[in-house]
Amino acid sequence: APSAPDPVMRSFDLPCTQKIEGGQKMNNGHFTVPEPINEPAKGYLPGSPERASLKAELERQSQTVVEIPIIIGGKEYKTGNMGTVVMPHDHGHVLAKYHIAGEKELRMAMDAAMEAKEMWEALPWEHRASIFLKAAELLAGPRRDKMNAATMLGQSKTAYQAEIDSACELTDFLRYNVYYAEQLYKQQPSNSWAVWDHMEYRPLEGFVMALSPFNFTSIGGNLPTAPAIMGNTVVWKPSQTATLSNYYFMRLLEEAGLPAGVINFVPCRGSDVSRYVLSDPRMAGFHFTGSTEVFSSVWPLVGENIKSYRSYPRLVGETGGKDFIFAHNSSDVPALVSAMVRGAFEYQGQKCSAVSRVYVPKSIWPEVKEGVLAETAKLKVGDPRDFTSFMCAVIDKKAFDSIAGYIDYAKESPDAEVLCGGYDGSKGYFVQPTVIQALKPDFKTMKEEIFGPVMTVYVYEDEELDAMLKECDEGSPYALSGAIFAQDRLAIAKMEAALKNAAGNFYINDKPTGAVVGRQPFGGARASGTNDKAGSMLNLIRWASPRTVKECFLPTGEITYGYMAEE
Ligand code: NAD
Repeated sequence: APSAPDPVMRSFDLPCTQKIEGGQKMNNGHFTVPEPINEPAKGYLPGSPERASLKAELERQSQTVVEIPIIIGGKEYKTGNMGTVVMPHDHGHVLAKYHIAGEKELRMAMDAAMEAKEMWEALPWEHRASIFLKAAELLAGPRRDKMNAATMLGQSKTAYQAEIDSACELTDFLRYNVYYAEQLYKQQPSNSWAVWDHMEYRPLEGFVMALSPFNFTSIGGNLPTAPAIMGNTVVWKPSQTATLSNYYFMRLLEEAGLPAGVINFVPCRGSDVSRYVLSDPRMAGFHFTGSTEVFSSVWPLVGENIKSYRSYPRLVGETGGKDFIFAHNSSDVPALVSAMVRGAFEYQGQKCSAVSRVYVPKSIWPEVKEGVLAETAKLKVGDPRDFTSFMCAVIDKKAFDSIAGYIDYAKESPDAEVLCGGYDGSKGYFVQPTVIQALKPDFKTMKEEIFGPVMTVYVYEDEELDAMLKECDEGSPYALSGAIFAQDRLAIAKMEAALKNAAGNFYINDKPTGAVVGRQPFGGARASGTNDKAGSMLNLIRWASPRTVKECFLPTGEITYGYMAEE
């Protein structure tokens, strides 16, 4: 008969590991996650292999209608209550049909997140980190075309705009957030004699609700994963119009090994989130990017429920903007023209950082105007599958109607002149790059967020610089991104100081768009959000509830103190 195996050899308690609660193992070693690097953007030049393979994937996705389920606790659910994702540049073409979750599914998703919490919190950090690092490599490698094509077709982005969003920025969010989480965990208090102080960065006591916008696939991916990297479990509601690319990302996370229930993918109506999730006592965090209006409506609802929550929920929101370029008469005009045209019109002005108001001194305006109009006239607006397009369509009918309304308003107003632009929504939601010259600095389109390819310019008298800086600072409720142009160093210093609170991302002689993770962490204050800087340690801190632990090695038995002794 075979002899009984040696109990020591059979045991999993090998000398280098020890068991922790829940049967998990903790390694005896401080691992260091790989130093992150920004994912380089591919060029998609004519004849390049990446261009050929992206075009093949665009063709494939254009011929498919995807059915998108709700994913809760790793399982698929279908309600039969359907929404559709269309190509904004060809709105009769359906790309996907998704099942819309209702109250029942939202409650199931919250339960699933709570159920997965214990397992996820107990999973050793290096395993948690590995899932997101693997997701980054899948995205940068074999899933790159799929994600880019879905973003191009569903959100109407050119190849380059999709590449810097769904491939590069999302890969960067994953790599850098893992790295920043580790840096955060390393922040530890100092110690005194015979005492060891620790700081433990616990996940929040509840689930996190993530609500993402349409305009960046990368933000869709970042809002649920940033809290998950910190050990939280999440209910994620993608934006209706970005459901296709966001769904592919959810599948990619599963492929990378994300356990069931850690992120629950729940396409639903925004109002249902307000109704059923904000009132749930287990909601510990709310991670939002989108309009100021929606985020502002969340605060009173949280206030109404404040006594029922287990903890005060963390509310993190990056919201609207009215991003500016302020030019001085010492500006390098060709650089200013390039910043205005690229900053205002790339991705149809639907970047939260897009240039939408510009202050130009009278002395350089003729040259600036000529340059801007000449360059704008060259921009081709069309289908993203035509790689010669510089711009595509705006996201949906609601956006199209709202932008068209602003253009019509300016056309009819005696206080403005429309220098170029227009719109035609018959086949796709196309808005031409539009430049308005406002004759008053407080004209409507100088103040309100339009979120489309509409740039308003106000021409100021050169000697009114100080008053105009004040107007730029106070003229709009937002403070997201902004740029100044000048070659005169003293003017740069003056403008930078005057506009200190006017933007959370401030640029000198560059366009105010194109923030890169790890280099220009993004976010603004005032009506633009809580300025928790997506893709930085500052954001990750919001998803942790630190516990301070003091261990005393030589506890005292004393009660009274030496100074109390008689003289
Ligand atoms: P949105 O506010 O319409 O939608 C954002 C999310 O909220 C979506 O998932 C939407 O379905 C949901 N929602 C809508 N109504 C809701 C309600 N009543 N209750 C709860 N949720 C609701 O924004 P959008 O159109 O997707 O995105 C554009 C806006 O996002 C712009 O204002 C832009 O400036 C802003 N944005 C800001 C940043 C930033 O970093 N500051 C980045 C990207 C976009």
